[in-house]
Amino acid sequence: MAGPGPPLIELAGVGRVYRRAGARGRGVATRALSDVTLRIERGEFVAVMGPSGSGKSTLMNILGCLDRPTAGAYRFRGRDVGRLRPDELAALRRESFGFVFQSYNLIGSATARENVELPSAYAGLRRMQRADRAERLLRAFGLGGRLGHRPRALSGGEQQRVAIARALMNGGQVILADEPTGALDSKNGEDVLGVLAGLASGGHTVVVITHDPEVAAWAERRIELLDGRVVADRKTPARERPGAGAGFVRTGGMPAAGVAQAPSSLGVAVEWLQTTFASLRANLLRGSRLRTALTVLSVTVGVWSVVAMLSVVQGGYEAGVEAVSRAGADSMWIRPGSPFSDRRSTPVRLTVSDAEAIAGLDNVRGVEATLSGRLTLRRGDRQTEATVSGTTPDRLAIRGWTLARGVFLSERDSADNEPVVVIGAGIRDDLFPTDAAVGEHVLLGGTPFLVKGVLVRFARRGSVAADSRDREVLVPLGTAQALLFGREDLDSVTVYAADPKRLGQTARAVGDLLARRHGHRGFMLEADIGLRIGFTTVERLLSALIGAVGAISLFVGGMGVTSVMLVSVAERTREIGIRMATGARRRDILRQFLLEAVAVTFAGGVLGTALGFASRFVFEAFDVPAGLSPWFVFAALGCAVGTGLAAGIVPARRAAGLDPVAALAR
Ligand code: ADP
Ligand code: MG
Repeated sequence: MAGPGPPLIELAGVGRVYRRAGARGRGVATRALSDVTLRIERGEFVAVMGPSGSGKSTLMNILGCLDRPTAGAYRFRGRDVGRLRPDELAALRRESFGFVFQSYNLIGSATARENVELPSAYAGLRRMQRADRAERLLRAFGLGGRLGHRPRALSGGEQQRVAIARALMNGGQVILADEPTGALDSKNGEDVLGVLAGLASGGHTVVVITHDPEVAAWAERRIELLDGRVVADRKTPARERPGAGAGFVRTGGMPAAGVAQAPSSLGVAVEWLQTTFASLRANLLRGSRLRTALTVLSVTVGVWSVVAMLSVVQGGYEAGVEAVSRAGADSMWIRPGSPFSDRRSTPVRLTVSDAEAIAGLDNVRGVEATLSGRLTLRRGDRQTEATVSGTTPDRLAIRGWTLARGVFLSERDSADNEPVVVIGAGIRDDLFPTDAAVGEHVLLGGTPFLVKGVLVRFARRGSVAADSRDREVLVPLGTAQALLFGREDLDSVTVYAADPKRLGQTARAVGDLLARRHGHRGFMLEADIGLRIGFTTVERLLSALIGAVGAISLFVGGMGVTSVMLVSVAERTREIGIRMATGARRRDILRQFLLEAVAVTFAGGVLGTALGFASRFVFEAFDVPAGLSPWFVFAALGCAVGTGLAAGIVPARRAAGLDPVAALAR
């Protein structure tokens, strides 16, 4: 059947030496093939015979481009295979060869149909055509009712027919079968040989490796090997061939190999997604569910702990910001005086309109105008000393204070110079030890003042230290000016910044404004920069802590994913070999394992983030401040996927770098 042009297969002086590192550093060389020279033409049905260890499998691996000769030349359709790069060899396997092994070599986690589809998926055939062709091939081999079965649910004969269908999926111009009947009973063995004979008469080139003369008798030519050399090569007489002329295989119904079409880019994207999801489902959910579950679990726990820790740190940070700003890190204090920088200035007269002008500046959250002095408060025969402050009605809101009883001073109280007062809890204790204070009167500088409200207690219950805030006595500013102190100008103005970090900047703006209004700098402006610097330092430390905790946890989680993936690659070496034999390129394998790593870490990331957010409520139930912002979700998922990629790269490269023959030998 030799056509025009170069022969299909041509070996010239081919040798194969296996080298293994032996004891004392000396390489042990095994000569598996020596000086093999032969030609195989299109459509031939050849049996390669010989005792075990004679080099049959080695020859088949070389013919099928799974392995390369160490000596001599192999030309396939005139092309020197020895010069091809790994991906070109993969393309040749994909397009021209179909392998059938003694142990079937089906992927256990894939269905019969998916196993048959495999070579065409790597060849880029469209999904529908792939499914259609696989189904028709399986039907042609009487497996129409077994499409969705997985290999372990099929008999040996059925599995071998699935393997033959797979070999034909991309056309299978050359079928290489290594002991295809070795694991089958004689009935199933004959069926398989009949199929192969039918393929040969249908124009396929079939090479069957066997040590069994009865199997070899089906072929029209017999090549015998002994110790890696060809010792005989002759035609089998037709009368001895059981399959000759039988032609009982239904090759007529066999569909032609599809040709990959160029679909639209959207179609490509959709197909890619469908194929990717299908393969992830098969490998992660059907393959080793326990392994997948454990990996997802470890990533979940890692992400969960990161998110939970971050939420505690964040909550602590927010609580710290609040505490620090309460301690005055967000405020400045202005009073009349001559600063060192301007000894000649006479003190300014601070006025309410100064306070109002300051309130209009950027980053100013609130302004308190204060006029105060030490006075004695009396009620009946009780009396106490306190600093009485005339203040504006927004003081309560600015300081975030609340009242235990009553109401606060109003705008109207100040305008009408009302004799009303709000007192701290400590003052109340002194003057009203037993009865309610609100609605009663106290004498202030001889004038009766109505108690309108009592502040909440600040000193902690049972604490020995008094809190100065419990000794506040607040009256309306107008009242203080007109009734108590008899002067208009203020003692001090306190300015609160919206953003404590910009306190210094705001202080400069306030100073400039006052200097402009008064024509000189006769005032003292104090901001507790030390406290603010401390606060900034704590903030920086906490951010660094968040970063370190996050990085360490992600690193630990990533190492876990890497080791699980490495185990997975080791466990799935044979599957990788099968994929390579059916034409997967290195990058197909690389991509598959990377995608699996990312899918697993992404799933873990989603679960871990959800648990992390849920933990917040547990923390809060135990009074641990916890806070989380929505960007945590993106950060956590981004980190999880990044970790998946980083952790998956080493195992994926190891998988992609496997030698197909060694991988299949597992
Ligand atoms: P057959 O298939 O005829 O039984 P093989 O081709 O498998 O023979 O093996 C031929 C020879 O090469 C044997 O001696 C075998 O031990 C040796 N051999 C096969 N594969 C390897 C390998 N990967 N490393 C070292 N020696 C090998
Ligand atoms: Mg063998």
